[in-house]
Amino acid sequence: MNRRNFIRSSGIYTAGLITMPGIAGLKAHPLNNGNAELAQHIIDRVEFIEASYYWPRLVGRNGARDIHGQYRNSFVVRIHTNQGASGWGLSRPRAQNTTELIDGKKLTELIDPVNGILDANLADFDIALFDLVGNILRKPVYQLLGANGIRQFPIYSGMVYLDELDEDGTFQGWDRVLTNCEWDYNYGYRQLKAKIGRSGRWYPHAEGLEKDIEIVKLIHDQFQDRKMDILVDANDSYSLDDTIAFLSGVKDVPIYWVEEPFYEELEKGRQLKQWMNLNGFSETLYADGEARPDHEVLGTMMEEGILDVHLVDIFGYGFSRWIHFNKNLMSRGILASPHAWGDRLKTNYTVQLAAAQGNIPTIEGVTCLSDDIDYGNYELKDGLISVSDAPGFGMKLLK
Ligand SMILES: [Mg+2]
Repeated sequence: MNRRNFIRSSGIYTAGLITMPGIAGLKAHPLNNGNAELAQHIIDRVEFIEASYYWPRLVGRNGARDIHGQYRNSFVVRIHTNQGASGWGLSRPRAQNTTELIDGKKLTELIDPVNGILDANLADFDIALFDLVGNILRKPVYQLLGANGIRQFPIYSGMVYLDELDEDGTFQGWDRVLTNCEWDYNYGYRQLKAKIGRSGRWYPHAEGLEKDIEIVKLIHDQFQDRKMDILVDANDSYSLDDTIAFLSGVKDVPIYWVEEPFYEELEKGRQLKQWMNLNGFSETLYADGEARPDHEVLGTMMEEGILDVHLVDIFGYGFSRWIHFNKNLMSRGILASPHAWGDRLKTNYTVQLAAAQGNIPTIEGVTCLSDDIDYGNYELKDGLISVSDAPGFGMKLLK
């Protein structure tokens, strides 16, 4: 049984279980049937807040980008109504110039709780509006969207970077990377995504490839008596030949997925998938669509069975758009795992989408700590993350 069939038969994959009305079916939905409660709410205040958070360790380079650092801010919007309700979520600074799109408007003019925002121009308020609706109706977002019954999901740590390099880019041995993996295991992860692509920017080409193979084997050895899936992500830093050389080099290590080996190109994708199928990697998923997604190429890759998992970002693409996009992917037999790197908020938004619709075999975990944000009750244990049952997205802004 290949991995995709395994994922589906294991119950993680739930294509077909969810039924959500299209635009034409809106009136039939109980939440949308002139929902009197939502209609009473008029937006009367909009605030923008920088909430600070930090990763538990300094995060170094990936194949493409320099040191990521440790201390960050989430730029969020908090929306208040004339009835005293509020909701908040990730936004963008440009939204400060477009508050007239929502200020003074009835909530029911802005969002439908089943289908999302009613105008694409509201994208910067999308998540906060969902949170607001959930708070008013006292339901978590996944229940607004039609819960599929599954409440726990596999999650991987997306924080295993090229941390063997010091600030100057000098190799310091593998201890730090392996210690980071152990930290993630102790935190509850049972899947790790190791950054590869060392042959691109940070090492001489052949040495970088060798180092990628070496670290993936070391991680595999470290966890071989414990459950730990290994995913790899080259951040588009490989060529097709590099990808094949890497996979040949790690041959006996099961690789859960290969992410962004090179920027999506149809012919290269075809060749890689064909090579994988013929060389013992038929169970390894091919994941792409995170960086500068070319939706036309990705669409053809899906049609041809090259792309297994679509990664377009949960926030960058948009939560409401993802609701519709995930349904589309399900109908085509393509798995989803929205990119969430950077911010724990995005991990938790993705958990709500997974609990609503399924089709997400594993969620990108971004471990974050914050004095400004309470990330809510999304328990991470034994490799699984649970969805929060608190209203909205179930998280609190503490400032
Ligand atoms: Mg990536």
